[in-house]
Amino acid sequence: MDNDILKVLYSKSDIQEACQRLGKEIKSYYGDKVPVVIGVLKGAIFFMTDVIRDTDMYMELDFMDVSSYHGTTQSSGVVELVTDISTDISGRDVLIMEDIVDTGRTLKFLIDTLNDRGASSIKVCTLLDKPSGRVVEASSDFIGFEVPNEFVVGYGLDYEEKYRNLPYIGVLKPEIYTNN
Ligand code: 5GP
Repeated sequence: MDNDILKVLYSKSDIQEACQRLGKEIKSYYGDKVPVVIGVLKGAIFFMTDVIRDTDMYMELDFMDVSSYHGTTQSSGVVELVTDISTDISGRDVLIMEDIVDTGRTLKFLIDTLNDRGASSIKVCTLLDKPSGRVVEASSDFIGFEVPNEFVVGYGLDYEEKYRNLPYIGVLKPEIYTNN
C-alpha cells in the first residue's frame, strides 16, 4: 500500500499528538456532563477510539453510517443514512466524531437529523477539515488538522474501501485513480 502514496501529510505520531490534544479539549469542554459520542462509520473508527480512549470521563458511545461518495473521489451530493444509532438522544449532549468535513453536506445532514430528535446540544469533532471544499455551511468545534483540497486516504479514510488501515494520512498517486 505504501507504494501507492504520493506524499504523507500526517504521520502516525502527528495523529497521536492531535488525538491527545482533542481528548483534553473534549474533557475540559464537557466537565461533568455525560455526552453521547457518535462515531460516523466507517472513516472515524480509528480516530474515535484514539481520541476517547484516555479521556477519563463518562460518556456513551454509538455509531451511525452515512454514505455520500459511493466509491469515487467526488461527492454525489446525496447523503443517505445507512445505519442509525440505537440511543435515544432526546435531551442529551451529542458529540459527533467525523473523519473529514469536505463539502459539509454529510455534517449538515447529521446535525439536522440529530437536532430533529431533540438533542440538547450538538458538537462536532473532526480529524480533518477541508474548508476549501465547502458547499454548505458546516463548522466543527474540535479539529485535528486543516487539510488542503486534495483527496486523502489512511487512518480510516478510504479510496474504494481500501487504504483505511494505513497508519498515517497521505495523498494517493494520481495513477491510482486513472487506472480505475
Ligand atoms: P462531505 O459530505 O463533507 O463532502 O464529505 C464527508 C465524507 O466524504 C467524509 O466523511 C468522507 O467519507 C468523504 N470524504 C471527503 N473528502 C475526502 C477525502 O479527501 N478523502 C476520503 N477518503 N474521503 C473523503
